[in-house]
Amino acid sequence: MASYHEQLQVQALSDLSNRSKSGIPMYMLIWLAISITLDVHVSHPLFFQVNTVILAALICLRAFHMALMRDIRNRNVTTMTQWFTSNLLLCSLHWGGMVGFVVYDPSLSDLETIMMIITPAFALGGACTLSISSEIRVLYPTLMFTPIITIFILNGDTESILLAVLSSLMLLYIFSSSKASHKDYWEAITNYLVAEERAEQMEKLSVTDPLTQIHNRMYFDSEYSQEWKRSLRLKSVLSVIMIDIDYFKRINDTYGHVFGDECLKIIAKAIRDEVKRPTDCVARYGGEEFVVLLPTTNEAGAKTIANRIRRAVEKIQVDYKGTPVSMTISIGGATSIPSVNEEKNLLIRRADSALYLAKENGRNQYQAETTGTS
Ligand code: GH3
Ligand code: MG
Ligand code: MG
Repeated sequence: MASYHEQLQVQALSDLSNRSKSGIPMYMLIWLAISITLDVHVSHPLFFQVNTVILAALICLRAFHMALMRDIRNRNVTTMTQWFTSNLLLCSLHWGGMVGFVVYDPSLSDLETIMMIITPAFALGGACTLSISSEIRVLYPTLMFTPIITIFILNGDTESILLAVLSSLMLLYIFSSSKASHKDYWEAITNYLVAEERAEQMEKLSVTDPLTQIHNRMYFDSEYSQEWKRSLRLKSVLSVIMIDIDYFKRINDTYGHVFGDECLKIIAKAIRDEVKRPTDCVARYGGEEFVVLLPTTNEAGAKTIANRIRRAVEKIQVDYKGTPVSMTISIGGATSIPSVNEEKNLLIRRADSALYLAKENGRNQYQAETTGTS
């Protein structure tokens, strides 16, 4: 499971990537629309070709990054973020450089007005949409405006200085607007992840027995319902074994409840260790009773597992102030291929009857219930 910090990084990068999807092709479309309408491809073919190739290369890089993003969980998120940031910053630097050149070269003066209208919109849009990243939020508009402001200052005439001052003010305005959306995003995402983690913890707590840390009865009931339906559909065999500690009241009365609790924990672990398949389910059914659900396991299989658990418990010796205390368990099992006519909980009741049979027959043994449907 990824750390909280990594989760945040992945989420932020995915959001950045999604938000910037439409942006980069937009630069190319607007560039083509302006240069074709104003005949730049005819009047300045080299300028047109170089910028078109750079924009196309940036789109390709971005598309490649987007393809890798599909498998982000298996990639290094820091490298992917750096790549994404560089890609976007290159894009804004290229646009700024191109507009700076338009301002610098008098033969491109036809382009100047339209470029000067579009560029602040690009800078503001980019900074606010990508305000998730504090680097992009600041560097994106800065790199776009720096070449333009520099050329204005170098021109030195009053109008150019005024434009340089206005552009700088616009840059400050972009910083302050994107700051608010940066803060809003991180507050929302942090709250969301914390809430999600809490919900996950609550869900885990609600299905875990606090003493033994194995599943509780509520979890078992839901697993049993699902397995029953699955076995009914697939016509496969399903077994349930019920386990009860022998004379446990005596253990509590002799050694105390705290020691009794310790024994319950140790026995629960022993049962869980003997039940190997991932589809099997071990749960605490009641006070000192446990239940094991064994999908696609026949009578012989259930008997093998039950006796394996029984022998494992027999071997346990819990230390009480230097005295080893051992315990035994009785187990009842029932097996069925579920049918629509059979009541769902009958299998559990049959396993319970078998458990009583095991108790009556002298305890520390396994009994299978064979009289019911099977
Ligand atoms: P049997 O062999 O017939 O099962 O005898 P038993 O004494 O185990 O059976 P009974 O059902 O009469 O008693 C179960 C005892 O389990 C009662 C109680 O003292 C003990 N018990 C139930 N839940 C807990 C628990 O959470 N902690 C502890 N320490 N003891 C528990
Ligand atoms: Mg009992
Ligand atoms: Mg008991």
